[in-house]
Amino acid sequence: MPNVHPRRPGRGYPRSIVGRAGYHLYDLACPITPDTWTSALWGAHSATSAALQVRDGGERSAYAICRPPGHHAGRDFAGGFCYLNNAAVAAAVLRDKYQRVAIVDIDVHHGNGTQDIFYDRGDVMTISLHGDPAEFYPFFWGYETERGEGDGLGANVNLALPRNAGDNQYLDALHIGLSHLRDFRPQALVVALGLDSYKNDPLAFLQITTTGFERIARVLSSLRLPTVLVQEGGYLCEDLGMNLASFLTGFEAEQLQQA
Ligand SMILES: [Zn+2]
Repeated sequence: MPNVHPRRPGRGYPRSIVGRAGYHLYDLACPITPDTWTSALWGAHSATSAALQVRDGGERSAYAICRPPGHHAGRDFAGGFCYLNNAAVAAAVLRDKYQRVAIVDIDVHHGNGTQDIFYDRGDVMTISLHGDPAEFYPFFWGYETERGEGDGLGANVNLALPRNAGDNQYLDALHIGLSHLRDFRPQALVVALGLDSYKNDPLAFLQITTTGFERIARVLSSLRLPTVLVQEGGYLCEDLGMNLASFLTGFEAEQLQQA
């Protein structure tokens, strides 16, 4: 655990391990223990495995139950329980076959790591729906003014939702997000699937219902893209399994209707 974090990263890179820990671990939710690397690596392998099923295995979609999660991990930083960015790994695997890949992050927290990794790239569009960072973790990223840079300008879309936004408001924002995909014309999709936007999640900020997850899933499935679902957040509450079942059932039902 670091005991110091750079006030403004990028101004010098220390030799000391304490300094380096502070440089790369931006909060205290990412202690490094003897087993951390093995766990993070196999979490990322799960995402790779799911992406390979879609890329080469003839599956139209696959779900990776990655632990630890990944979307707060950037190019050179870990935070928010995330060490390796599983959704970005899945996108990279898909990118070997598909020219343009979209990542839609529906975790209640902004996918700041994913944003960081693809911020200057025009071949991977990142869209994140999340609680307003002015009031909610990760606080320092996730504002709508962050739109990408260089080749990636316009390929990063942040949709910040106010506290207690419910299903309908969320779906409106999702449709706005997906309207950005029209011009981008993605050939494959990664969903950073957080279930912590649930109304009874211990970290509750939004008010998504169990049925809401099914509705969100149907919208994403209706894009008719090869899709990798990567598990992100979702904290212990009685309904967590039911919410996942609701999402997957909706996703599959929409797929079957299309078939
Ligand atoms: Zn989360």
